[in-house]
Amino acid sequence: MRKQRVLVTGGAGFLGSHLCDRLLKDGHDVICVDNYFTGAKQNVVHLLDNPYFELVRHDVITPFYAEVDQIFNLACPASPIHYQHNPIKTIKTSVMGAINMLGLAKRVGAKILQASTSEVYGDPNIHPQPESYWGNVNPNGIRSCYDEGKRCAETLFMDYHRQNNVKIKIIRIFNTYGPRMNPNDGRVVSNFIMQALRGENITIYGNGEQTRSFQYCDDLIEGMIRTMATDEDFIGPVNLGNPNEFTMLELAQKVIELTNSKSELVFEPLPQDDPKQRQPNIDLAKSKLDWEPKVQLEEGLKKTIEYFKDFV
Ligand code: NAD
Ligand code: UDP
Repeated sequence: MRKQRVLVTGGAGFLGSHLCDRLLKDGHDVICVDNYFTGAKQNVVHLLDNPYFELVRHDVITPFYAEVDQIFNLACPASPIHYQHNPIKTIKTSVMGAINMLGLAKRVGAKILQASTSEVYGDPNIHPQPESYWGNVNPNGIRSCYDEGKRCAETLFMDYHRQNNVKIKIIRIFNTYGPRMNPNDGRVVSNFIMQALRGENITIYGNGEQTRSFQYCDDLIEGMIRTMATDEDFIGPVNLGNPNEFTMLELAQKVIELTNSKSELVFEPLPQDDPKQRQPNIDLAKSKLDWEPKVQLEEGLKKTIEYFKDFV
């Protein structure tokens, strides 16, 4: 493929920075836009000498102008603690960020991909979740700023596509972990690893029987790149996640084992509206993208633990 000019919003975050790495490796010209709310310059500092990489401090709730061929829209805090810190800002980021990026895509004719989420399924009544499921989402709870913001962004993507022929792709990302997650961002994988490495108690919310399916970041980035490369008639939404499902108790045991930690489990209250189970149906990704995750939990955790050792 010829060199593409690619805009990555949220590019200094955990996933965005891995995406910037991959796009540069594939020979593209990358503009990374971020307001550093949950991301950090540290995640992309190794790219600053590359003449095909530009780092711009910018908040996506205001318009951004650049001539680009592709846009990956990732800007949005993803950890419940961070997205609930300023919920109005979170929903503005999802909704106004989508409007601004879709407006840009429309003006310059760029292809645009939305990083949507398994949270659009809420606390699902159908298990595992196929893309056709409309979800079970509380419209006014403490997670709604994120869930409903992302659902509204999907609506905006579809309407810009139907009304203005904007070339869109929507991916629904299931819990993804790996190096460059913010060690303090409160998500379960980073919490458990940091607690285990520090010998602190491992905080299990609720009884720990709730499940999640954990995907290693490299698998997700491959899926994102493949989705962007599909023909114009494939727009998604498409689930990208690892179907291997674990309880939080199983995850804690695995982390303790891999870190040789003496940490003990403590039980804390389950946050409001915490989904009981989550597992992607990835049939669509398999058939349309010829994609499935390759890195299983133990291998991915080992790499992530190595990264977090520097933060202890
Ligand atoms: P992250 O918090 O590390 O990255 C988000 C990035 O967006 C950060 O760099 C942050 O500073 C930036 N950002 C936030 N608000 C912004 C704004 N108003 N303007 C500009 N930049 C802004 O989280 P992540 O895990 O890398 O998530 C990236 C994207 O993937 C998010 O959209 C998230 O909703 C989505 N996602 C992630 C997961 C996951 O498990 N990691 C799951 C589902 C969806
Ligand atoms: N969780 C936990 N202990 C922690 C952090 C999270 O037991 O220290 C639980 C949380 O209640 C949820 C699951 O782990 O059931 C995943 O939480 P996370 O915030 O990583 O992601 P999400 O809920 O958005 O899937």
